[in-house]
Amino acid sequence: MTQSAKVDEPRRLIDRFGRVHNNLRISVTDRCNIRCFYCMPADNVEFMPRTELLSFEEIERVVRIGTTVGIDRVRLTGGEPLVRRDLHLLIEKLAAIPGIFDIGLTTNAVLLGEQAQKLKDAGLQRLNISLDALDPEVFKRVTRRDSYDKVIEGIQAARAAGFSPIKLNAVAVKGMTEDQIIPFAQLARETDTEVRFIEFMPLDADSKWQKEKVLLAADIVARIEAEFGKLQPVPSSNPNAPANDFVFADGVGRIGLIASVSQPFCSTCNRFRITADGKLRNCLFSHEESDIRDLLRHDGTDEDIAAAMLMCIAAKEAGHQINSADFVQPDRPMYSIGG
Ligand code: SAM
Ligand code: SF4
Repeated sequence: MTQSAKVDEPRRLIDRFGRVHNNLRISVTDRCNIRCFYCMPADNVEFMPRTELLSFEEIERVVRIGTTVGIDRVRLTGGEPLVRRDLHLLIEKLAAIPGIFDIGLTTNAVLLGEQAQKLKDAGLQRLNISLDALDPEVFKRVTRRDSYDKVIEGIQAARAAGFSPIKLNAVAVKGMTEDQIIPFAQLARETDTEVRFIEFMPLDADSKWQKEKVLLAADIVARIEAEFGKLQPVPSSNPNAPANDFVFADGVGRIGLIASVSQPFCSTCNRFRITADGKLRNCLFSHEESDIRDLLRHDGTDEDIAAAMLMCIAAKEAGHQINSADFVQPDRPMYSIGG
């Protein structure tokens, strides 16, 4: 290779372990309209002042610069992203950035009924809906709010707007959601819905997580197999996807297991995050952040911001330490990081 070819090589977000990062998860707010116990406190939540949140223009700039170091897919999250006013306008801006091929959103769907079509029209391609229970009473216990009907309305609106398949993410918690597993599996078999069960992670605001409360992926599989017969593992279409995917023995229906605690997928991680107040994080469980908002608001150049991204990824650890005795839960809970 000639010297000039080397100089011209595009810079990429590659860490010490060779992982290439092309996927930026963007939190647009830490506010939320429900109070899932594994994420937020029940009450007296102190939210970030609105002036601290990145503006849509600032987020657009970050993503545009990110494309120069290899970002090609983004996912909007929060907090609840749909409580951020006019979110579809941000999606329009991101969809217009050359080099961004994939825009996703993770939502609790409470406000999706009124926004699904607008989001689709703006260019949103993927939608993950978080729903931990199909029983309204269990939903209320988990979320500490009575919004189940709005969520169902939101899911219907998403279907009507053309999002397909609908992906449902269900956090599985011992002593709370075991009896929801079979109904979810049934739903996956009967409708165009991919259900993914997520192990409960130590990111709750109350720091009450205990390993004993994690409903393990292996237990979930065992329960489903006891009811429907052997599940068949299927390769994921995306090698960086965190879920292990399965189909039922008769080929009808698909489910996924995100075994973040019992089978960490850190070795194939391609994601990093920016919090709603503009801090870059290379891992959910990181204790370090890098302040991009400060650069954005105090004359940081595009090169400064690209360099901050490269340094953030260069400092990434091999994996999280949930299963080690030394594990320390990060100061920020999930709603403040952006899940
Ligand atoms: N509010 C949106 C929602 O709930 O979809 C987006 C933000 S939420 C923090 C993103 C995802 O993180 C949701 O699927 C949620 O269930 C998941 N989550 C939150 N806290 C979690 C925890 N402690 N363990 C596992 N998953 C968690
Ligand atoms: Fe809100 Fe999502 Fe956290 Fe639930 S998981 S409290 S919906 S941010």
